[in-house]
Amino acid sequence: MSQLKKYRASCHCGEIQFEFECAPINQGCRCNCSICRRKGATMSDFYVEPEKFSFLKGKESLQRYQFGDHDVYHYFCKTCGIYPFHDGPAFPGKYRVNLGCVEDLNLDSLETRKIDGASF
Ligand SMILES: [Zn+2]
Repeated sequence: MSQLKKYRASCHCGEIQFEFECAPINQGCRCNCSICRRKGATMSDFYVEPEKFSFLKGKESLQRYQFGDHDVYHYFCKTCGIYPFHDGPAFPGKYRVNLGCVEDLNLDSLETRKIDGASF
């Protein structure tokens, strides 16, 4: 198993700050579903395990948005509107992270996998 690395991330205004541990990130994913294509975010290619994730600040600043069959909880910052991560009722607290929120991570250096969410 590869060494875990700690990453720190925040929304744009800084109300929401969090950190998580995972294998070094060298890949992201993008999805073509109705919400992801509007957000345009490069997301983590994995869900962070709840015990590897911690809020530093701003859990109360999260606003939750759901649509369709409601199987995903989409979060955004009440102040700046940025999407930091999402989870779902089947896996609460297990987040797929918006890699654009992560400090010291060059999105252009990542391999990007496509998720065909529009077909789900
Ligand atoms: Zn914010």
